[in-house]
Amino acid sequence: MKSYRKELRIETPHRRDYINITRQVEECLNESGIRDGLVLVNSMHITSSVFINDDEGGLHQDFEVWLEKLAPEKPHSQYRHNGFEDNADAHMKRQLMGREVVVAITNGKLDFGPWEQIFYGEYDGKREKRVLVKIIGE
Ligand code: ZN
Repeated sequence: MKSYRKELRIETPHRRDYINITRQVEECLNESGIRDGLVLVNSMHITSSVFINDDEGGLHQDFEVWLEKLAPEKPHSQYRHNGFEDNADAHMKRQLMGREVVVAITNGKLDFGPWEQIFYGEYDGKREKRVLVKIIGE
């Protein structure tokens, strides 16, 4: 069995952002030489997510509105976590959108359903973050 590991570096200009990282994961897969197996992609931070969905701008705005309804950023004082920090909402948004995805690899390709793409969801950005890509197989 072969094993491959890489950390992707992601910098976002805004507090919240949704970034399609499918191409970077495909580059990792090509680099690994693995043709059949599994890829795990996870955020290495507790205020951001990796998830799979459609690459459609309207949907991403809908995510933003939905997340702000469930875990509004402001007022910061509504959260006990916000003493020295102001990112309690970001921790909650990450819980809702998830930490990681696992995708099957078949014939050297990501074995997606129709329209599936991998996204990095940032909820407390404006600094560099890391995403772990781990691939196992043969
Ligand atoms: Zn925090």
